[in-house]
This record gives sequence, structure tokens and C-alpha cells, in this order.
Amino acid sequence: MEEVIIIGAGPCGLSAGIELKRAGFDPLLLEKHVVAHSISQYPTYMQFFSSPELLEIGDYPFSTPNDKPYRLEALTYYRNVAQHSQVRIRSYEEATAVIPQADGSFIVETLNRLGEKTAHAARSVVVATGYFDHPNLLGIPGEELPNVTHFYREAHPYTGMRVCIIGGNNSAVDAAMDLLKVNASVTVVYRGSDYSPNIKPWVRPIFESMVNKGRVRMLFNSTVEVISLGHVRVRTPEGVQELENDFVLALTGFRSSRRFLSAAGVTVEGDWEIPKFDPATMETNVPGLYLAGVVAAGRDANEIFIETGRSHGKLIAAHLLAGRA
Ligand SMILES: Cc1cc2nc3c(=O)[nH]c(=O)nc-3n(C[C@H](O)[C@H](O)[C@H](O)COP(=O)(O)OP(=O)(O)OC[C@H]3O[C@@H](n4cnc5c(N)ncnc54)[C@H](O)[C@@H]3O)c2cc1C
Repeated sequence: MEEVIIIGAGPCGLSAGIELKRAGFDPLLLEKHVVAHSISQYPTYMQFFSSPELLEIGDYPFSTPNDKPYRLEALTYYRNVAQHSQVRIRSYEEATAVIPQADGSFIVETLNRLGEKTAHAARSVVVATGYFDHPNLLGIPGEELPNVTHFYREAHPYTGMRVCIIGGNNSAVDAAMDLLKVNASVTVVYRGSDYSPNIKPWVRPIFESMVNKGRVRMLFNSTVEVISLGHVRVRTPEGVQELENDFVLALTGFRSSRRFLSAAGVTVEGDWEIPKFDPATMETNVPGLYLAGVVAAGRDANEIFIETGRSHGKLIAAHLLAGRA
């Protein structure tokens, strides 16, 4: 039987793995893709808003000549940390269920890329599955069309096209600035009444100036109601507008799935299925079942990010050590 299984090898799951290993456990990480998979899916040329030392895990130094690292540097860093720390990671093995046993242990069922099923027994389980697989859906007609995406990668495919961006936070603003470089005609539809306070402070003045110069059309207090292949219907304070449009980037954030958690008996509350756990130990109401990283966040997934979620592993290790004594 494994002492601890960690589900998910993002920055927070990996950090938990390192802390547990240093505390004398030998955790097994199960990762449905590869280490830091979510970051590999972020926009190709994305720059973090955090400085490198705030993205560090396990006290491994993150050295870069840049004030804020880029996606590629973060991927290199987390890959190297995974390799040097020698935590056990089984890549392309997805956890499909966590089943509590009568003796307080767990069975973690998995499926690998060859379609093989395995059942791992573990005394404790840490769920660190992140949120990036689950974009906040708009629930409007046309959202499923091929000209709509919730995952922006890079500008080139939108060269010279009319692009409607839904959202007003960093992802939306970064995408808008990027699209200007490929001569796209950009409309940002945002339900907020003013620029979001979350926008990176060094980006906001440039973005505002692009709006003021008319390079980006910014519609505040507005929502997209219907998407078609050639139009978007937008409700604005001035009334409903039918805009000619080619592509839609719905950059409205993410929310964690609580599938494992609720099936394993964790109390999840409200529309946003906020899980019940003790923030001092990260243990849920199911003894031996822990959370690490953004999966522990409530309604606002941005309340936990790498800077904050990287410390969860230490809390878990301390609690498990105390239980051993
Ligand atoms: C564009 C963008 C920019 C950001 N910039 C910053 C920043 O500057 N600073 C900062 O601190 N944060 C930033 N964040 C947020 C940060 O990236 C996330 O909060 C962080 O990745 C959370 O780490 P995690 O380990 O909890 O989850 P994730 O990184 O999402 O990792 C979860 C892992 O679990 C795996 N997984 C999921 N389900 C299963 C399963 N069933 N079985 C096995 N494995 C599974 C996934 O494949 C993934 O590898 C940014 C986010 C975005 C989208």
C-alpha cells in the first residue's frame, strides 16, 4: 500500500510531493498528462505576473534574467525540479475515482494512455487537480461552434480577422494586445463597468491607451448573448448590437471540478461546490483526504494560485507527520 498518493503534478501537486518526500514519505504522483501540463497549455508567449522567486517550489532556485518569467521558462523550471527532486511521477495515468475504504485507507482507480485500468491502495490521498480543464462556460447559443475557443494560444491564426474577446481580466487583455500585432480587429466585451483591478499594472496603461486610440473596441457593462459563425449579438447599455465577427475568444476563467471529492464523501457546498477542508492542515472532512493548490479555491479560482498554493504541501506533510507520531 502507498503511504500517500497525490493526484495531479502541477506546481502545487509537485510542491506537495517534494515536501512529503522531505518529511520522510515517498509519495506517488499520478498525472493524467505530464508535469506542469496546465502551464504547457497557457498562451505560447505568456509572461507570468509573479516574479520568479514567488513561483519557486521546494526551495529550488528559479533563475531567469527576466523580472517575470515566461511560460517556456516556467516549464523548464518545473521539469527540472521534478527531475532533481526525484519524486515518483506516473505520467499519462489519470485518476478516475477515489474510493474510501472501511479501514480509513483509499483505493485510487486510474486509467493510463493504453486504456489499462489500475487500482492503487493508499493510506492518504492529496487531490491537486487544478482547474484548467474546466473553463467557465457561458451557456449561450453558439458557444460550441468551431470559431469559439476558451483557450487562447497565439495570435497568428487570427491574422487580419475580426475577433470578439469575452472577459476583462489578464487573459482577455493579454490576448487583445497580442492580436493587435497581427492586425486583427478586436472587440472586448466585458460585463464589468470599468477596467478590472486585476490587470497587470504594467499592461493596463498600454491597454487603456489602445482603447482610447480606438485600436481596441471596449464594451463595458456588456454581455454576448448569441454567437454565430459570422456574428455576435451583444447586449450593451445602449441596446442590443449585432456585430460582424469571425472568431470568439471566451476568456472567462476556470473552475475546479469536484468530481472526485464529492464522490469520495467530501462536503461540497453551493453552486460553486466549495469543498469543506481545514485551511491549517488542508485535510477535508474525509480524514486522510487532502487538497493542494487551486482545487481548494472557492468561487473565485484566482484566490489560490502558485504563489499561495505552493505552501499547501508543507501543511499536509506536518499534519501527516503529527499523525505518525
Ligand atoms: C494565463 C495564466 C497566467 C497565470 N499566471 C500566474 C502567475 O503569474 N502567478 C501565479 O502564482 N499563478 C498564475 N496563474 C495561476 C496558476 O497557473 C494556477 O493557479 C496553478 O497552475 C495552479 O497549480 P495547481 O498545481 O493547483 O494546478 P494545475 O497547474 O492546473 O495542475 C493540475 C494538474 O493535475 C492534472 N490532473 C487533473 N486531473 C487529473 C486526474 N484526474 N488525474 C491525474 N492528473 C490530473 C493536470 O493534468 C495538471 O497537470 C496563471 C494562470 C493562467 C491561466
